[in-house]
Amino acid sequence: HQVIELKGVSKRYGSSGAPALGPLTLSVAKGEALAVTGPSGSGKSTLLNLVAGLDRPTEGAVTVAGRRIDRLSEYALARFRREYIGMAFQFFNLLDDLTVTDNIQLPAQLAGTGRREAAARAGELMEMLGIHKHARAYPGRLSGGERQRVAVARALVNRPALLLADEPTGALDTASAHGVRDLLVDLHRAGQTIVLVTHDLTLAQECASRTIHLVDGHVALDTCARAVR
Ligand code: ADP
Ligand code: ADP
Repeated sequence: HQVIELKGVSKRYGSSGAPALGPLTLSVAKGEALAVTGPSGSGKSTLLNLVAGLDRPTEGAVTVAGRRIDRLSEYALARFRREYIGMAFQFFNLLDDLTVTDNIQLPAQLAGTGRREAAARAGELMEMLGIHKHARAYPGRLSGGERQRVAVARALVNRPALLLADEPTGALDTASAHGVRDLLVDLHRAGQTIVLVTHDLTLAQECASRTIHLVDGHVALDTCARAVR
């Protein structure tokens, strides 16, 4: 089934001019890893924000994990995001005065998961992502690649239907970027649905099962277009 369904979606900032995004109709199936590429200003962040429920479309319907999210209240949206969306954005947003383990557990605790279960899940993710030896360290002591892995672990702790990553390798050196790339490939193999915004075409090629290229808010290229229903 579809994890994301956008129907006739457009986003306009302000009242005049062409939309920043769309009109756009797009589906992303469960298990797909979609890379979104395109020049600066082409609408990539706008698309990610609409799918994450961080912003609302001017027109059209946004359905994520079977829920029509464009009409939810702010309260319901916050809850929706906690339950269904994992966000790993470029500048990590890790809390420097919490250990790696506590950073990863935090979203689970906010979602009401018991402490033991949250700790178990965090441990499992740290093991999987190769950061368990830093469990009790503070993020400030880690390399960029390690911090990005912590951010991805935190994004996955609530078992989100959808992982969103915005330029996950943007701030990293080559070796760390390779690590994050391998991690995304592993997650895709494990069946995680992923939307990945990136300027890095190698990253898109290696991690994604499908790439859409945006130009001026429109899909100029879709490497694996599905039939429009
Ligand atoms: P990208 O992520 O590809 O760089 P964006 O989605 O950030 O593109 O931006 C798409 C277009 O919308 C750009 O022309 C940008 O200037 C405009 N835009 C983005 N966010 C806002 C905003 N909050 N207010 C006004 N215009 C915006
Ligand atoms: P289901 O098939 O019901 O989605 P899975 O056990 O395959 O069950 O996955 C459940 C959730 O666990 C996924 O939605 C994802 O968030 C998370 N998950 C799956 N594989 C991984 C992985 N390799 N690393 C981290 N989290 C994962």
